[in-house]
Amino acid sequence: MTGEVLEPSIATVITGLIGLLAGGALVLFMMRRHVQRTIRQPLEIIENTTAGIAQGAVSARIVLPEDADASVTQAALAINRLADRAAHDIEDMRRLERVRSEFIANVSHELRTPIFSVQGYLETLLDGAMDDPDVAIPFLEKAYLNAMRLNTLLNDLIDISRIESGELKFSFRYFDIVDLINELVHTSEIRARQANVTVHFSYDDARSVYGDKERLSQVLTNLIDNAIKYNVDGGRVNITTSACDDGVRIEIADTGIGIPEQHLSRIFERFYRVDKDRSRAVGGTGLGLAIVKHILEAHDAQIELTSQAGRGTRIVFTLRSGEQV
Ligand code: ADP
Repeated sequence: MTGEVLEPSIATVITGLIGLLAGGALVLFMMRRHVQRTIRQPLEIIENTTAGIAQGAVSARIVLPEDADASVTQAALAINRLADRAAHDIEDMRRLERVRSEFIANVSHELRTPIFSVQGYLETLLDGAMDDPDVAIPFLEKAYLNAMRLNTLLNDLIDISRIESGELKFSFRYFDIVDLINELVHTSEIRARQANVTVHFSYDDARSVYGDKERLSQVLTNLIDNAIKYNVDGGRVNITTSACDDGVRIEIADTGIGIPEQHLSRIFERFYRVDKDRSRAVGGTGLGLAIVKHILEAHDAQIELTSQAGRGTRIVFTLRSGEQV
């Protein structure tokens, strides 16, 4: 009796167990498939794509199937963001590298011209021209002018590299801008007379500005020099300082050759010149306006340049005003 009762129940248990095992195996199989599809395969995609990115495919990004596990998808998105930032940084580095090599090429080119000239004049003198005073004197003068050009160029290069590397420290204080401009106008008189250009300066009561006097003197010298250099015979340069809401407004306007519109957007770039031959002939280096812009930026002063070819150029910027000096 007991055996009869036992037999079916063992069978039932065994059947049940087999069923359970089969069910368990099926669940396990389904789970494995799910894990395979939602975790393992996406992880493989991540591994392969990141390996590709590391080998230089900087634009490659991880694309996962829609049913990938949420946390794996989050990780993939984070890696993609990182790759975006790295690609952006690499592009920036490449751009800087291009700018640097362009700059070096420009510098070499600019240095070569006066060095070759000095070399040429001295060689001709040594080859016998020294004995002929009619040739010797002008050649020596030309060699000297080119040596001066080299000196100006090197000074501008040193300035621009010190400003751009942040090495140049500015020393801010209050000073009288009217006194400074009067001095500079006085210093420019010989150059203006040689070019047959007259320089006028008018001002109101606003005299005290806050800035680096030496550097602003460099800015003003550069702008006044340009207004004289790129002027016409009998032309004028009008300098005006006046009080305005934000400080003291400084304007340098000339009646010179002006700058054709297509050049205006690039005029503050290093070595950019409208007419290279004219710039060289008047001792330009092509770095003046780039230096001016950097110095004014350090004073939070925006430079505005308007110009019309054949009519003249007007440059305006505002310096912070201060207590009465
Ligand atoms: P440069 O040493 O050649 O004068 P700048 O950087 O001072 O270099 O000026 C760049 C170029 O902008 C000049 O070569 C010239 O073509 C143009 N330029 C600058 N100022 C004036 C101006 N007042 N009138 C006409 N052209 C100007």
